[in-house]
Amino acid sequence: MTQPQLTIALSKGRIFRETLPLLAAADIVPLDDPESSRKLIMDTNRPEVKLLIVRASDVPTYTQHGGADLGVVGKDVLMEHGGEDLYELLDLNIARCKLMVAGDPQMDLAPRRRLRIATKYVNCAREYFANRSQQVEIIKLYGSMELAPLVGLADAIVDVVDTGNTLRANGLEPLLHMADISSRLVVNKASMKTKHTLVKRLVEQIATRTGNS
Ligand code: AMP
Repeated sequence: MTQPQLTIALSKGRIFRETLPLLAAADIVPLDDPESSRKLIMDTNRPEVKLLIVRASDVPTYTQHGGADLGVVGKDVLMEHGGEDLYELLDLNIARCKLMVAGDPQMDLAPRRRLRIATKYVNCAREYFANRSQQVEIIKLYGSMELAPLVGLADAIVDVVDTGNTLRANGLEPLLHMADISSRLVVNKASMKTKHTLVKRLVEQIATRTGNS
């Protein structure tokens, strides 16, 4: 009987680099370097395991619709997407950062004030401010969020913050903590059933490296 295939969607850059040692713990080693290769489907040392290189924000979509069995994705992206038809299997404890409201340190963010918030995290921002009973106008941006308060497009932004250097370089500060973020291993609900043995083994092997075992 031929072994079923297992596909894992993940993005280039920090998540890929920090996922490599976890995959190695499961004896999965990519045969190409995604930084130099243009391949979107990467073979590994295990013929039944392939890595799919996708944009970070597309990992939940590929996994949800079965384009990939598994995905490695930031909790920020997962929260924004909603996570339908996915199970979150493991906190991989990598690519850690915080989802924050940030802006000019003098900005009054009191809940009685109606704010204009620029962000790519439209759903996360809407939910966060609704829980504070604060009225907001959300302005969707795709990048360079820090610019929005500087040119009067928004009162504040919602973005992920690591060191805070990018904010400070633009005269902004992290102001309100929304959530702690790290990357998660997610699985398509159907794959969890049909490829249960392969998925379970992978999770057990990775868990030995993430403090989850
Ligand atoms: P910082 O270290 O706060 O200056 O982060 C620089 C930029 O990198 C931020 O504006 C974020 O958009 C992005 N960033 C930092 N950490 C992460 C992460 N774990 N996941 C995704 N984006 C991140």
